[in-house]
Amino acid sequence: MKRSLLLLSAFAFSVFLLSFKAEKNNAVPKATIKTLIIDPGHGGFDGGARGTFSSEAAVSLQVSLKFGKAIEREFPGIKIIFTRTTDIMPGNKRTKDEGLKYRANLANESGGDLFIAVHCNSAPHIRHRELTGYKNTVVYTGKGKKRKKSTRKVPQYRYWTSPNPASGTETYIWAVSKNDAKVNSINKTEFYGEIDSTSDGTALELPDPSDPAEKARMLIYAQQYFRKSLNLADLVEREFEHTGRISRGVKQRNDAGIWVLQATGMPSILVEIGFISNRDEEEYINSDKGQDEIVEDLVNAFRVYKQKLESKSINTAP
Ligand SMILES: [Zn+2]
Repeated sequence: MKRSLLLLSAFAFSVFLLSFKAEKNNAVPKATIKTLIIDPGHGGFDGGARGTFSSEAAVSLQVSLKFGKAIEREFPGIKIIFTRTTDIMPGNKRTKDEGLKYRANLANESGGDLFIAVHCNSAPHIRHRELTGYKNTVVYTGKGKKRKKSTRKVPQYRYWTSPNPASGTETYIWAVSKNDAKVNSINKTEFYGEIDSTSDGTALELPDPSDPAEKARMLIYAQQYFRKSLNLADLVEREFEHTGRISRGVKQRNDAGIWVLQATGMPSILVEIGFISNRDEEEYINSDKGQDEIVEDLVNAFRVYKQKLESKSINTAP
C-alpha cells in the first residue's frame, strides 16, 4: 500500500512536471521586436569622422532620430530607446570606452530585442609622390688615402594628398562564427584596417576567448544572434542597393569599436550610411532627400526582418 502510494505520488508528480513544462512552452512569447535600441555613433567630445562641413556625430544623430520617428509612426507598439538624442557622449561619459559600455549596458538593461548603430564612414586622403628632378649631392666614399669625392644624383619628389574617392554603404556585424575554433582564434590585438573606428581601442578590452565566461557569451552570440544580425545586415545593404547606392556589402569586424555589438545580448548591426570624406556623399547624407532615403531603406529592412522573425523563417539553428 505504501509502495503503491509512493508510485502514485511519483506518477502524479511527473504529470505535474509534464504539464508545467507544457505550460511553459505555451508561455514562450512569440518571436518579435518589442524594444529597439537605436545608437547614433559618437557624440559630444567625440565628433567622429569629419567631412568638409559636417561631422559624423551630427549626421548619425539626425538620421537616427528620423529613423526612430519613422519606426514609431509605422510600429506604434514598439518601444524605442536612443543611446543619445542630443550632441553628448551617451550617458555624458568622459571617455569613448565608458560611452561604449554605457551604450551596451543601456541596451541590455532595457531588454532590447535589436540594436542598430548608425555611423558614417571615412577614408584617409590618398598620398601622392611625383618625381620633379634630380639634385647633385657630393658624397665621400672610402677611408684615408682611398677617400674619394664624387657626386651623386638624388631624386627629388613632390608630395601631396587628394581626397579619397571611396563611397558607398557598409553594414557591420560582430565577427564571430558558430565555429568554436574560430571563436578561439579571435585575436585581441588584431585590427582589420577599418577606416571608421568608434573607439580609440586602448582602454577597452576586447572579449578574451580564454576566459570561460567571455567564451560562453561569444558562443551564445554566435549561436543565437549571428544569423539574425547577418540577415538584417544583408537586408539593409540590399535596400541601399535598390535605392541606387553603392553597397560595399556586409562586413565583419573585431575591433573595440563594434565590441558594443557583441556586448549587447541581442542581434546587432552597425550601419555606415556613407562616406563623409567623399564630398558628394557628404552632401547626400546631410540632405533631406538623402536622409529620407536612408531612413526609408532602414525601415524597409527592419519591416522585412520583423516579418521574417515573426514567421520564424530566419534559421537561427546553430
Ligand atoms: Zn563611427
